[in-house]
Amino acid sequence: MEEIKAGIDLGTTNSAVAVIGDDGKPFIVVNGDGNRITPSVVGADSGNLVVGDNAKDLQSIGCIDTAAFFKRHMGDANFRVQLGGETYDAAGLSALLLRRLVDDAQERLGKRIGSVVGIVAQGLIAEPSAAAYAYGLAEEEPGKTLLVYDFGGGTFDVTVARVGEDEIRVLGCDGDHHLGGKDFDDALANLMVDLLCAECGVDSSEANLTESESAMLAVQAEQVKRQLSSRESVRVPVCVAGMRGTVEVRRGDFEGATMHLVRKSMDVVDRLMVRLGLLWAHIDAVVPVGGMTRMPMIAEALESRFHQKPCGGVNPDEAVALGAAIRANLPPRCLPAY
Ligand code: AMP
Repeated sequence: MEEIKAGIDLGTTNSAVAVIGDDGKPFIVVNGDGNRITPSVVGADSGNLVVGDNAKDLQSIGCIDTAAFFKRHMGDANFRVQLGGETYDAAGLSALLLRRLVDDAQERLGKRIGSVVGIVAQGLIAEPSAAAYAYGLAEEEPGKTLLVYDFGGGTFDVTVARVGEDEIRVLGCDGDHHLGGKDFDDALANLMVDLLCAECGVDSSEANLTESESAMLAVQAEQVKRQLSSRESVRVPVCVAGMRGTVEVRRGDFEGATMHLVRKSMDVVDRLMVRLGLLWAHIDAVVPVGGMTRMPMIAEALESRFHQKPCGGVNPDEAVALGAAIRANLPPRCLPAY
């Protein structure tokens, strides 16, 4: 079987696989369920392990026999999850996810993935550098300064990097590993409960949700959040704490409830700029990474500081996998040590 090199983004919330096509351009390989992005979720269904979309589906029906956001716990000796009668740590769960990603991609392509840039084998690439490759910035004139703003589901990272002759050099990075899309989902879930309480005439301090209701509501809130990136308002049926109704969530209300989280990310950016002695005027391109950068509020916050639009043309949640695929297929002499 033909052997190829892939780029894999094993993300906190979602993961993706990319390879280089016959035209020399990177493309995302859809998973066994036909989706470009695979949720980084593992679960047990009647004792059987399920990974990705099926595990996320279990979460959405309130099944608590699932593990998500486990990448946040890499290296934490106290982190253990019981699934299908076995105990897993974060590395064990990541290995299950990685196996699924590789198996699905090999089946889809009918080719063996011989080596991978992203997680194992050939090497690791810093995520911001991978993103710069995906946006075509590695071919920019040497000396250009990039600000990579990476807002994912579980973490926020910012990196300032400089384009070099044959590498992207990281000048500095900062982040908040307890700030991510999940915080927006939680705030939106609270807003949805408040709206439902107001409709049902119930005091919101008296709405007590079960663990399973909270899990289902979190999945629902995440979907509403995505819809609000392209719509001004969303009507959604909510059924929790003995109440049932349809609430209308407006983008403005959601933004009001989460603006402090965007500011928090910008404070981290400012802290890094101060540390590096840089001003926004020194930045040549802002590189958006992570699904959260699809939110209009985030794009606007970046534009108001940078006075230009962030780079476009690449799906921000696919950028790392695409860039890693480009990097995996560069001749070895061009591979700097990371
Ligand atoms: P990533 O880690 O890059 O896969 O980013 C995942 C995060 O991005 C999750 O919190 C998603 O809910 C969020 N996300 C994905 N698509 C959108 C969208 N269209 N609007 C807002 N958030 C999104």
